[in-house]
Amino acid sequence: MAIELREQLRIDYLEDERLRQAGVALGILRLDELHPLVSGNKWFKLKENLKAARDAGCNRLLTFGGAYSNHLLATAAAAKYFSFAATGIVRGLHAQALLSDTLQECMTLGMDLVFVSREVYSRKGDDVYLDALQQRYPDAWIVPEGGSNAAGLSGAAGIAAYIPSDSSHVALALGTGTTFAGIRTALDNRIAMTGFPVMKGGAYLETPLGVLIPPAQNNWLLSNDYHFGGFGRHTDTLITFMNDFYEQHSIPLDFVYTGKMMYGIFDRIRTGQIPAGSRVICVHTGGLQGNRSIAQRLCYGPSYS
Ligand SMILES: *Cc1c(COP(=O)(O)O)cnc(C)c1O
Repeated sequence: MAIELREQLRIDYLEDERLRQAGVALGILRLDELHPLVSGNKWFKLKENLKAARDAGCNRLLTFGGAYSNHLLATAAAAKYFSFAATGIVRGLHAQALLSDTLQECMTLGMDLVFVSREVYSRKGDDVYLDALQQRYPDAWIVPEGGSNAAGLSGAAGIAAYIPSDSSHVALALGTGTTFAGIRTALDNRIAMTGFPVMKGGAYLETPLGVLIPPAQNNWLLSNDYHFGGFGRHTDTLITFMNDFYEQHSIPLDFVYTGKMMYGIFDRIRTGQIPAGSRVICVHTGGLQGNRSIAQRLCYGPSYS
C-alpha cells in the first residue's frame, strides 16, 4: 500500500465582526479534517518517516510520548493503517495505572506501550539509550518525540503548498517547532509567520528554530504571551473563547494548541499588530482528540470521531 492519505484540504474564511472592523481577512486551513486519528500536522511529520521506515525494511515504528500525546496516537493509527507494528515509550510509571483515553486508544490500535520513569524518559534523545532500544527492537524505525527529525521536517514543509500565495501572514501553534520550521523553510518569505508556543517560556525555541530555518527565510516571529499557564494547561478565559468561537463559526479548537493560537491571533489583530489589509491563514493543526480530558467543559464535546 502506498503511504498516502487523501489530502483534500479546505480553507474556511471567517465571517466575523472583529475581523471586519480590523480590515483583516482570516482563513483556517483545516488539517484537522485530514483523518480523525492521524490528524493535522502529525500526518505530515509522520508520512516521510513511514516511507523511510519502509525503504529501510523496518516493520515497526517506535516512538515516545506522554499520556495525552497526539503524536503517540497518530503514530499508533498510522502504523495500523499502513501495516506496521508499533511500540510507544510512555513518560511516567504512573501513566500505566491511570490509563488515559489516548493511551487506551493506542492500545486498541495495537500499539505496545512501555511505561518508563520520567528519569529514563528524559534520555529519549541520548545515543546510548537509543542504541539499546534499537538492539531490543531490531525491526524498529525510531521516530523522536513529536516526530521532530529530518523526515518530520521535510514532511511538514509540504503544508506550505496549501497556503494561498496571496496570503500576508500564517499563524501556527508550536510544540517542538518542527512544523513551524518545515513550513517556514518552504514558504515564500514575503509571507510572514507568527508562531505561538504553547508552553511557558517558549522563547527558548528561537535557538533551535534558528538552526533549522535558513537565514534568508527570516520573516517570522514567536509570540510568547498566549501559553495560558503552560503546556496542557488552560484557564476559564481560554475555554470561554473556544466555546464562543465554536458557537460563532462551528469550528472546534483543541485546548492544548489551536485554541491558544486562535486566541493569540485575534488578540494581535485587536491590538493592531496585524495591520488592516492583512490576509491571514491560521493552520488548524488538529489535536481534537486531546479535548476528551475536558469534554464536559466544551459545548461541542470531544468533537472527534
Ligand atoms: C503536535 C501539535 C502541534 C505542534 O507541532 P510541532 O511540530 O511539535 O511544533 C501543534 N498543534 C497540534 C494540534 C499538535 O498536535
